[in-house]
Amino acid sequence: MKRSYSVDLLIFGGGIAGLWTLLCARQAGYQALLLENHALGGVQSIASQGIIHGGTKYALGGSVTASTRAIGDMPGIWRDALAGRGDMDLSGVRLLSGHQYLWSSGSLTSSLASLLASKLMQSRVAPLARDEHPPPFDVSGFRGRLYRLEEPVLDTASLMKGLADQARPWCCLYDAESMEIRNNNTVVVGNLEISPCRVLLVAGKGNAALMERWGMTVPRMQLRPLHMLMARGKLPPVHAHCLGASANPRLTITSYPLEGEESVWYLGGELAETGVTRDPAAQIAEARAELERLLPWMDFTPLQWATLPIDRAEVATPGGKRPDDCYLGGDGSVMVAWPTKLAFAPRLADRVLERLAQEGVQASEQETPPLDLPAPPLAPLPWEHATWS
Ligand SMILES: Cc1cc2nc3c(=O)[nH]c(=O)nc-3n(C[C@H](O)[C@H](O)[C@H](O)COP(=O)(O)OP(=O)(O)OC[C@H]3O[C@@H](n4cnc5c(N)ncnc54)[C@H](O)[C@@H]3O)c2cc1C
Repeated sequence: MKRSYSVDLLIFGGGIAGLWTLLCARQAGYQALLLENHALGGVQSIASQGIIHGGTKYALGGSVTASTRAIGDMPGIWRDALAGRGDMDLSGVRLLSGHQYLWSSGSLTSSLASLLASKLMQSRVAPLARDEHPPPFDVSGFRGRLYRLEEPVLDTASLMKGLADQARPWCCLYDAESMEIRNNNTVVVGNLEISPCRVLLVAGKGNAALMERWGMTVPRMQLRPLHMLMARGKLPPVHAHCLGASANPRLTITSYPLEGEESVWYLGGELAETGVTRDPAAQIAEARAELERLLPWMDFTPLQWATLPIDRAEVATPGGKRPDDCYLGGDGSVMVAWPTKLAFAPRLADRVLERLAQEGVQASEQETPPLDLPAPPLAPLPWEHATWS
């Protein structure tokens, strides 16, 4: 015999979007549950660079765009959460760095150079004098300009664990293949029948298959692939974007300390975007050459290398460009969302709650008892399951 449950909100996907929204919905009094088919921490979320963007990267295009405006409030919201002052308590989450650096490779276009010196950027980036340069930029061999950017970088493992620890009582592992959806939106998983008032699909790339199960053809999803790199060895901590000739960072480095003296440099930016057509060996060779070009005084020969091909899943845009904001769509009782950025998770959760309120979804008074399903494990960091060469 099936056991029946009624919930206000049933969330699919335990990445940053699902966990953050689940916790906000519970705080607002909703009976919300989350189903995950793999591991909490997500696919993109745990593999992200953990940068809480405030829009500077987007302003490098030369003007304040919709992206810049939408994302401008995010570092403040995250800083409050990290300090335990916000709606979300992230006081236990490890900050890898409170700020990042922007550095010019020397081949900065004059328009980018004047933008960095402009009023628009003055409140965002501070140029550093030579004697303020941190390693590895504190050598005479470094000829470019260095700017400090007040945007934090989080340890994504600690972030996702912090959220998962709070959300665990309402998160269940299920088998997506054997799930049935009945006409009236009842979801049947094993011997459980869950009747949600609203469904939220935030399964990243997995949204496409879930939407198909619900017979939805819109919204459409786009995938923007990356070929990220990991370099492991005795490396100094660096959280920095290298600016080249275009508005997109040529290289973005974040670093993660390992046990002992080693750390991982996690490399993204244009190198990861243009590297999607290269095989891992060619991508590693290109990354090594790029580091040698950009930081020629450092010795990269003793490093171990690995790569991570991964897709960014987003709502489709004309021309396949990065969306400016997080996205919430869908209709009737099934909502579909992609946060676009880790940093946008709080904004997306607010939008979901606004929509529930607009549609008159009331918080049930009766607490849903725990489901008889296992708790999902936590997703590992990319370098914890990498094959090193
Ligand atoms: C390499 C990389 C670096 C990035 N760096 C940054 C950064 O520095 N800063 C920033 O703000 N953003 C960054 N981003 C973007 C950011 O990571 C993503 O926008 C965000 O993590 C997406 O979160 P999500 O919860 O929607 O998806 P995901 O993290 O992908 O989580 C989706 C979850 O859904 C689950 N799932 C899949 N199918 C199903 C199903 N059928 N049923 C139930 N669950 C399912 C998956 O297992 C997964 O747990 C980066 C992205 C990438 C790929």
